[in-house]
Amino acid sequence: MRDANKCINCGRCIRTCAEIQGANVLGFVYRGFAAIMAPEFGESLTASGCVSCGKCIDVCPVGALVERNLHYKMNPYTKEAIRQNCGLCGVGCDILAEVQGGEVVRVTTPLEKPGFNGKNLCFKGRFGWQSNQEKLDTPLLLRDGQYHAISWNEALEVIQTRTKLAKSSSVEISPHITLEEMLLASKVSDKLECALSANRKYLSFSDQFLDIHPKEDAFARLDDFTEYVVVGALNRTLLSLIRLQQLKGKKLILVAYPETEPFKRFADESHNDLRNLDAGPNRLFIYNQNRVSEIMAAKIWNLAQPQNILHSTDYMNHTGFVAMRPMPVKVSEVDLAICFGSIPSAKAGFKVAISAYQTEGRSCDLILPRANFLGIEAHVLGDNGKLSRLANPLKSTIFNELTRLLYRLDWISAATADMPYWNHLAQELISRLQSTEIKLYEKQSLEGLRDNVIPSDSPLEDIMAGLFELRKRAVKF
Ligand code: SF4
Ligand code: SF4
Repeated sequence: MRDANKCINCGRCIRTCAEIQGANVLGFVYRGFAAIMAPEFGESLTASGCVSCGKCIDVCPVGALVERNLHYKMNPYTKEAIRQNCGLCGVGCDILAEVQGGEVVRVTTPLEKPGFNGKNLCFKGRFGWQSNQEKLDTPLLLRDGQYHAISWNEALEVIQTRTKLAKSSSVEISPHITLEEMLLASKVSDKLECALSANRKYLSFSDQFLDIHPKEDAFARLDDFTEYVVVGALNRTLLSLIRLQQLKGKKLILVAYPETEPFKRFADESHNDLRNLDAGPNRLFIYNQNRVSEIMAAKIWNLAQPQNILHSTDYMNHTGFVAMRPMPVKVSEVDLAICFGSIPSAKAGFKVAISAYQTEGRSCDLILPRANFLGIEAHVLGDNGKLSRLANPLKSTIFNELTRLLYRLDWISAATADMPYWNHLAQELISRLQSTEIKLYEKQSLEGLRDNVIPSDSPLEDIMAGLFELRKRAVKF
């Protein structure tokens, strides 16, 4: 929201939007004393090319620009500010979640000791918390083609009945969940005597060659290069970090970058493919596994040295997922399939999804709620081994409900049915990973690799698109 009465015409928002975000939608309209900061022709921001990254809000020194809140009326009462990382993609930006009455009511960036992302967040990071309205807090059972809310006790009975009949099971994980949840899934798979597995779409040839060493600042290595080759579209904040490097005089080369993206205007060089590019010691190749095909990714790996490649994803915990080494799901049918963080891909007589949102568990027989990134105290290893921490600002007890259910099913022991146990296991895993040897890359044949792009299947992508449209509507409290 813009309040021209408070604006002191410092122009910081205009420069941030034009020079870092690239949207370039703000400017001065009128001249002299009448000059005000506004989009072209003084139109509303929602009618401009604004992508609602909120960077202009964070640099405004006087509060002339503030966030629009769709669900809570902003008020001067005290808010508790809790620092953690964003869990909506693999970048893991530092955020400050402001909480009032047990609800997150705003997300900003820390002013004191800002994180690696500075004041840069994308629309998802800044406004994605508003999807909290859609999160699940009770189990859902599919009956007569409709989902019905049931209690945790009823969910227990349903699973007990199914387990008695089940002769074979499958336990899957997705890269959308935390390390603690992956370790819990692994324990369940041991108990059900099946391998920890994953949908093939999450797996890629590059998994075994990725640097999975946990790092506090995984993007500091951007400093070591003078040229950045961005292949395909990238996560928004990662682009901002690269743009900040370019502003120091470094070179930006875009390859197969979407024509309509405003960031394209920053390119020093633009190419349709990798054909005319060579690798050099000062050149860093950057791509997102969910925005380019596996074949394009293999071409990058065949061209550049692994230390000259920055791999990224739209998954919160991709490095953690790779470190768990899940097996691809088997084709044969099982009696009971459970998936933590998505829909089971195994063919099964009874499917259970452990999901934060109903849409994530669609078509399953039973959906058990899972805490989202604002409702769990846990660890995450994002892109490039980025160590992120989630602090449960919502004070959600959903993880405890889930472990209680698993304990009553006799799938985990009483001693392991609380969060600190899993936090400890996750910390142990993180320490172990520090000394893991990384497999040397061998030139890859492109045969058998996927030539289609596998975008993130997070239900949040659709929810975010809805939120982006909702922001244009008037809100009354
Ligand atoms: S929210 Fe982002 S894109 Fe929109 S005006 Fe502000 S800086 Fe520009
Ligand atoms: S770039 Fe990723 S981690 Fe950063 S704010 Fe956006 S969604 Fe969150």
